[in-house]
Amino acid sequence: MSTQSPPGPDIEADVCVVGSGATALFAALLCARHGHTVVLASPQEEFEPAGAGISPLLAPPTLQLLAEQGVEEELIRDGRRVLGVDDHGTTGLLSRWRYTDHPGIARPHGLTVTTGTLVQALLARLRDEPGVRVHTGVSVTALTQDDDGVRLTTTGGAIRAAYAVAADGRASALRELTGIGLDVRTFDRPAWLVVTPDVPGRDPVLLVRHQAPAALFTIPIPPESLAVVWSPDRDQEEALEQGGPAALAEQLRSVDPELADWLERSRDRVSPLIRLAFSLWRADRWRAGRVLVLGESAHGLHTLGGQGLNQSLQDGASLARAVHDTLTTGDGTRVDDYERIRRPHVEKLQDFQWNLQPLRSYSPAPPTRGAHEDFIEAMTRLDPALAGQLAASG
Ligand SMILES: Cc1cc2nc3c(=O)[nH]c(=O)nc-3n(C[C@H](O)[C@H](O)[C@H](O)COP(=O)(O)OP(=O)(O)OC[C@H]3O[C@@H](n4cnc5c(N)ncnc54)[C@H](O)[C@@H]3O)c2cc1C
Repeated sequence: MSTQSPPGPDIEADVCVVGSGATALFAALLCARHGHTVVLASPQEEFEPAGAGISPLLAPPTLQLLAEQGVEEELIRDGRRVLGVDDHGTTGLLSRWRYTDHPGIARPHGLTVTTGTLVQALLARLRDEPGVRVHTGVSVTALTQDDDGVRLTTTGGAIRAAYAVAADGRASALRELTGIGLDVRTFDRPAWLVVTPDVPGRDPVLLVRHQAPAALFTIPIPPESLAVVWSPDRDQEEALEQGGPAALAEQLRSVDPELADWLERSRDRVSPLIRLAFSLWRADRWRAGRVLVLGESAHGLHTLGGQGLNQSLQDGASLARAVHDTLTTGDGTRVDDYERIRRPHVEKLQDFQWNLQPLRSYSPAPPTRGAHEDFIEAMTRLDPALAGQLAASG
C-alpha cells in the first residue's frame, strides 16, 4: 500500500473510491474483497483517529455486515452496547422494546462507537488487502468518461478506473463534477446536544422523554458517557443560546429531574452545548455514467432516526456487490441494482421523517406512540431487497 503519489502516469484500478470516512473505507474494503483493484483517494491528509468524532448508534444488521468482514473486535471493545428503546410520554411509558424481542436478529444489541474507531478498524483491514492503494490529501479537480471507464484528475495525479465512487460526503466534489444535483429540505426545529459522564444506575438504552412539543433523547456513548439531545419548545431556544449547559439543566428539571441535577453536579465535566440543525438531502440520480454516489454524497437523514451511517454502510455493501456483478459478468446493467435496491428504501425513510409532525412543528399535542416504533424495522432488520442481493451468488 502506498500513501502518496507523485504526478506521473495514470494510476489504474478497477474501482476508485473518493472519501475519508467509514462509508468510503467500507465500500473500498468490500470491492477489494470481491477481488478488484481499488484506489482510495482521501481528501483528508489524515484519517480520523480512534476515539475521535461523534458516536452514532450502529444497528444489529449493520454490525453483522461489519462482522462478516472481521470488523467487530475493536468496535465491541471501545463501543457501548445499547439494548433497546424506552419511550416515555407525560403520563407514563409509551413504548419499551429491546433488540432481543425481535426473532432472528443479528445481534442482541446496537452499539454506539466513535466514527474514528470505526474508521481506524476499517483502515487496518484495507491496508491488509493486496491490490489496494490509499492516497491521502488528494482532491478531485476534473473528470472525463468514456465507454470503458472514468479518468479522475486529482491533485495527486490522474486515476483511471472502470468505476468511480463518490463517498466524499454531503458537499461531494466528485458528485458536483458529474452534474448530479442535490435536493435539500430543511427542518426548522433545531435541537441541542451535550455529552456528560454517565448518569449512574441507568439502563443502557436509548431513552426518550416527551413533554410535547419538547422531547429529550439520551443514549450511552463511549467512553462511559451519555449523549443528551434536547429538542425544546420554540420559546426555550433563546435561553439555550445564551445560557449553555446551565440553561439546559434548568429546562430539563421538569422532564428528567435526576438528569438536571446530574448536569449541575457534573458541570465541570459536561461538554459545551452544541446546536444541531437538521435537513434531508437526496441526489437526483445515484449514477452518472461510470460514477456512483454513495452514503451522504447521495442522501442525508434526520439525525433523530439514527440511520445516517447505518444506511450509508448498507449502501456500501450493495454498491460493492453491484459493481462486482458488472465487472465479472460484463453486463453493464448489473451496476444499476445498487440504485434500484437502495434508493427507494432510503427515500422511504426520508419521506417518513419529513412527514413526522414532531420533527417539523411545535405541536403541543402529546404523542400517542413511541418515537422509534416506526423505525424498529430499520433498526433491527436489513432491507429485504438488500438481504436478497447480498445472499445471491454471482
Ligand atoms: C449528532 C449526530 C448523531 C448521529 N447519530 C447517528 C446514529 O445514531 N446512527 C447513524 O447511523 N448515523 C448517525 N448520524 C449520522 C452519521 O454520523 C453520519 O451519517 C456519518 O458519520 C457519515 O459518515 P461518512 O463516513 O459517510 O461521512 P463523510 O461525511 O463521508 O466523512 C466524514 C469523515 O471524514 C473524516 N473527517 C472529517 N473531518 C476530519 C478531520 N478534520 N480530520 C480527519 N478526518 C476527518 C472522518 O473520517 C469522518 O468520519 C449522526 C450524526 C450526527 C451529527
